[in-house]
Amino acid sequence: MINFQYSRANDVADAVRMIAADPAAKLIAGGTNLVDLMKENVERPSRLIDISRLPLKTVKQTADGDLRIGALVPNSDLAYHPLIEQRYPLLSSAILAGASQQLRNMASTGGNLLQRARCAYFYDTVTPCNKREPGSGCSAIGGINRIHAILGASEACIATHPSDMCVALAALDAKVRVTGPAGERVIAFGDFHRLPGTTPQIDTNLHRDEIVIAVELPAQGFAKNYSYLKIRDRLSYAFALVSIAAALEIENGTITQARLALGGVAHKPWRDTAAEAALRGQRADQASFTRAADLLLRDAKGHEHNAFKIELARRGIVRTLTQAAQATPQSQSDKKIR
Ligand SMILES: Cc1cc2nc3c(=O)[nH]c(=O)nc-3n(C[C@H](O)[C@H](O)[C@H](O)COP(=O)(O)OP(=O)(O)OC[C@H]3O[C@@H](n4cnc5c(N)ncnc54)[C@H](O)[C@@H]3O)c2cc1C
Ligand code: SF4
Repeated sequence: MINFQYSRANDVADAVRMIAADPAAKLIAGGTNLVDLMKENVERPSRLIDISRLPLKTVKQTADGDLRIGALVPNSDLAYHPLIEQRYPLLSSAILAGASQQLRNMASTGGNLLQRARCAYFYDTVTPCNKREPGSGCSAIGGINRIHAILGASEACIATHPSDMCVALAALDAKVRVTGPAGERVIAFGDFHRLPGTTPQIDTNLHRDEIVIAVELPAQGFAKNYSYLKIRDRLSYAFALVSIAAALEIENGTITQARLALGGVAHKPWRDTAAEAALRGQRADQASFTRAADLLLRDAKGHEHNAFKIELARRGIVRTLTQAAQATPQSQSDKKIR
């Protein structure tokens, strides 16, 4: 039994005041990740600050055509929001490929960004884990590492970021709006999550006393040529072994813009602008897609049980780009399950 205090924030300023006042406190939104971690004794907050009733539940178009998604918009509401379905179907597909309907009803936009690694050793408090207990070692290196990273890992940690939604947000060039005692700031999505390096216990560049208030999307939504492919061990809810978000702009068979991001392969959603640049100006065909896949995976490195992910990712990238080019997105059928 862990003793903790419980407080409900009345407004955003109240939440910031409470989180700034107690270094051991944790914000709770949908609770679908944090409560599990508390049950497993991985997280032991002194206080839960309930932000679930804050007025951050709207999806709004701004005057310049961008979209602002409140941090407490539930994953289900976001996936089925008419503006997301029409203008950013890649995001809708990615969200609907994640978790189950019940979980998506509870899970919030901000919480999805901040969900923690799914490495089994991280959840198992009797095994060494640098993310849970810095300096204790990494049990996945030399252990069971089938679901672990093939890109951007370090000797301290080879965990992956588990989100589907975040892979689409990376591809769509989202921004994260946060607020804290020093005021508001905006973090580019690519800078929000961190690679493990020597500090795998720090997942993101959000300061301890800040809260996410919104995710912002630029007007360009790639609504025609997109696809989100999630490869997992079972079709019912499971985290990605490899997932791919692809979005293209094509004029007369030539790619004029490309976005490519992968999930399940690194400590953060893995977007590669070099692979995107290599696609621009090329024909939308298998040869171009294979070159982009090879470029993206140039530094990929497998471990005992996950080297298969490199070839899986290579084939997945070509397939996803092909589906995007043909305007036959992979996840369209998921949308029928409401
Ligand atoms: C069985 C199961 C299967 C799942 N499968 C998938 C899957 O396939 N794909 C996928 O993407 N996800 C999956 N998930 C994860 C799920 O999407 C996340 O648990 C959920 O998105 C977290 O949102 P939440 O609001 O419940 O966060 P919470 O559990 O409330 O919080 C999670 C973390 O975020 C912090 N936090 C929450 N909101 C804010 C904020 N506004 N500002 C700052 N910090 C904040 C909390 O302090 C906490 O540290 C699965 C979860 C479960 C339990
Ligand atoms: S991969 Fe990361 S989360 Fe898993 S045991 Fe190693 S340090 Fe811990």
